[in-house]
Amino acid sequence: MSQPTGNIFIVVAPSGAGKTSLVTALLQAEPSVELSISYSTRAPRKGEEDGKHYHFVDQTTFKSMIERGDFLEYAEVYGNFYGTSAPWIRSRLEVGQDILLEIDWQGAEQVRKVFPEAIGIFIAPPSIEELERRLRGRATDSEDVIRRRLASARAEIDKIAEYDYIVVNDDFERARLDLISVVRANRLRSAIQCRKLAAMLARMGQAG
Ligand code: GDP
Ligand code: ADP
Ligand code: 5GP
Repeated sequence: MSQPTGNIFIVVAPSGAGKTSLVTALLQAEPSVELSISYSTRAPRKGEEDGKHYHFVDQTTFKSMIERGDFLEYAEVYGNFYGTSAPWIRSRLEVGQDILLEIDWQGAEQVRKVFPEAIGIFIAPPSIEELERRLRGRATDSEDVIRRRLASARAEIDKIAEYDYIVVNDDFERARLDLISVVRANRLRSAIQCRKLAAMLARMGQAG
């Protein structure tokens, strides 16, 4: 698959670390980055819309999508299935679009096998205690679900060194600016710029 000038950003975090809040803020600052909308068998939370937060599907539909090869990656996360649409990713990369995947660590490993140049960003909470406070404060999940998510957090943090960037979400504004910096810096890499600016660089080479 060709990837003319687009970057693939993969954002991973323990549940409750602030991934969704930070990604939403990033997309406001950098509207040209497009978010991949995952498919999920989880029930929608209050306020979540089909097609905006996730494509919500039942288990039977999800399984037939797996069989058709519709997913670039998929994983079982906290008892539900989540997957990234392969045709959507391919269509965006073909036109050089920067894309962002908000997925779990298992999905991140799968995507990096297909696209080793994908940029992995880990959002870390300042502490496990604060993570628990945020999960409870969000008030969207049952006690059982919260316990399950907290139990996974330690194992996820153990894999932190596998990521290209680590953003600690302590002070939200600082974390927001850190995330924006990662996106902007990656867009300026010479491998990307040489392709994007080919015509301009050729003109300057000819001048004089
Ligand atoms: P939140 O991120 O804690 O608000 O919880 P969600 O229910 O939205 O997501 C649950 C988990 O599924 C998280 O670890 C996500 O990163 C992960 N996830 C979301 N979409 C995908 C996807 O398309 N593929 C994979 N593999 N994981 C996903
Ligand atoms: P995730 O998508 O990683 O599960 P959310 O974005 O839903 O996380 O954030 C979890 C909760 O923590 C939300 O209620 C959010 O408003 C809150 N939150 C996010 N970042 C911060 C922060 N820096 N300080 C305090 N609370 C935060
Ligand atoms: P939540 O159920 O709280 O929305 O998400 C729980 C976890 O599932 C989060 O860590 C989220 O990143 C992950 N997740 C969401 N979509 C996908 C996806 O398409 N693939 C994978 N692998 N994980 C996902």
